[in-house]
Amino acid sequence: MTGCLFCRIAGGEIPSTVVQQDDRFYAFRDIDPKAPVHVLAIPREHIASLNDVRGVDQVGGLLLFARDVARSLGLSERGYRVVLNTNADGGQTVFHLHVHVLGGRAMQWPPG
Ligand code: 5GP
Ligand code: ZN
Repeated sequence: MTGCLFCRIAGGEIPSTVVQQDDRFYAFRDIDPKAPVHVLAIPREHIASLNDVRGVDQVGGLLLFARDVARSLGLSERGYRVVLNTNADGGQTVFHLHVHVLGGRAMQWPPG
């Protein structure tokens, strides 16, 4: 979508540090990491938030892609956290569907 930050990142218009990509999904380093490993995984298709997901394949494919990213970064055995913020109370600031893949340290619970 024109003007969407993450569409522009996935399209290569705005630079990012790519971690993994395929024809449907794109993973890149978060610009303001909250853990030793902090990667964002997004669909190339513009979907504003989880509220706008229409089918299981959109979000299921994204989750499996995030799982593969975590595996390729060596996080699988020790563990990692996948976070999907939705709208204002969820803490969403960029309105293109994304999951955070956080790892490299023990996570706290509950989140703030
Ligand atoms: P949200 O708060 O919407 O769940 O997550 C948005 C994330 O995007 C934040 O963690 C923020 O640091 C990251 N972010 C915002 N702008 C950019 C950018 O231009 N490049 C990269 N790599 N990450 C960004
Ligand atoms: Zn977008």
